Order: sequence, then structure tokens, then C-alpha cells
Amino acid sequence: MGNIVENLDEVRYRIEKACDSVGRKKEEVTLIAVSKTKPISDILTAYDYSQRDFGENKVVELIEKQAVLPDAKWHMIGHLQRNKVKKVLDKITLLHSLDSLDLAVEIQKYAEKLKLDFLDTLIEINIAGEESKFGIDLNKLPYFVDELLKYNKIRIRGLMCVAPNVKKSDENRALFCKMREIMLDISYHLPHNSHIDILSMGMSNDFEAAIKEGATMVRIGSDIFGRREYNSN
Ligand SMILES: *Cc1c(COP(=O)(O)O)cnc(C)c1O
Repeated sequence: MGNIVENLDEVRYRIEKACDSVGRKKEEVTLIAVSKTKPISDILTAYDYSQRDFGENKVVELIEKQAVLPDAKWHMIGHLQRNKVKKVLDKITLLHSLDSLDLAVEIQKYAEKLKLDFLDTLIEINIAGEESKFGIDLNKLPYFVDELLKYNKIRIRGLMCVAPNVKKSDENRALFCKMREIMLDISYHLPHNSHIDILSMGMSNDFEAAIKEGATMVRIGSDIFGRREYNSN
């Protein structure tokens, strides 16, 4: 694996190419560097090379790293346990993994306590209906969205998915297309003044297909920082 700066160049180039291929502007896609399990030194290298958005999937790790680099934007991309909400709520730019009403209740409660205006969140969708995955099942989504509207501290900004692990990016393209359609459906459903405009989808294996189908955030770990020593999912 090359070094982080070269990898970032390569990933940025691939993002631009994928955008070009469907007539999108590269500015429409935010690269989230998924730094889970990686040392802060790696993150600082990326930061010095203009990377500003970082994704973590564990609360403790996110908080430690955020304390070192509070100027970066920290994205919580992993399943968030209810009892960790209060620790992380005011440390993150965006929660990508809103996946239960119980979690929503907890976010509402602590956002009130901390006097936050709101938390920006994405609804995680279990797009392929996989047993092993977190996320809302498609048939429960309309109800879930309706219920969420009761929580004024939760701002729904869009959708997120973790698509199946595939070898070729295009194998997930139909699922990404479906995500875009679901997002459109939901936006009709929401009040006119809502801010639903984020589609977080695409990882090292499949981000090009995700961009072609409208991803506005891609979450890329191994293609930037190299393989992870242990599986932290
Ligand atoms: C680890 C992780 C990623 C990044 O995965 P790579 O395959 O290393 O790019 C993206 N999203 C989530 C939710 C993750 O947990």
C-alpha cells in the first residue's frame, strides 16, 4: 500500500472521474476519510493534505481523536448505542447511523439537556435486507420517518447505507439507484422546509457506482489508510 498522500490523490482523482462520467461536479461529493483503528498520526497526515471530514465507528475512539483535532469534521458512521449518546452528541458533525426510535428518544433527551439546536442525522437503510446489518428495513421506513418528525432536535438530512461487500463496484449500482429513489420519496413526504440533501453511500469497494447514482458523501477507509489490522465492524 502506498502512502496516505498518494492514496488521497488517487481517491480524489477517482471521485472526479466518476463525477465526470455522469456530468456531476466533484464539489457535489464529500470525501469522508474513514480513520477507524488508525493512529492519530495518519489522520494528521491526511489533515495536512487538506482532508477535513473523518469517519469513525466507535464512540471512544472518535472522542479521543476529536479531542486532538477538534477543527476537523467528525462523522459517526457506526451503530450508536443509546448509552453513548450523551458522550458524543456535541462532538459530531453528522450521525450517519440513526437506526431506531429508541436512539431518537435518547438524542432528543440529551440535545435538550445540552441545549443543542438539533443534531444532523441520516437514516441508515438496510438496503439489501441483510440479517447481519443495522439499518431500517424498507417496509418500516414510512412509519419510521413519520415518528422521527415528532423529535424536534433531530434534523433528517438524508440517508445512508452500507451495501453488500462486492468485488466490482457496479454490482451495487442497482441498490444505490434504489437509495436515490427512496430519498426522493421521503423528500416528498417531509415538510417543505426540511434539509434533506445527503446520500451517504459508497466505500472503497463501490464508491464509483455510488457516485454515479447520486452519492453526496462517500466513506472511504482502506483505499486511503491501507488495510485495517483488525476488523472493527
Ligand atoms: C469501515 C467503514 C467504511 C469504510 O470501509 P472501507 O471498505 O475501508 O472503505 C465505510 N462505512 C462504514 C459504515 C464503515 O464501518
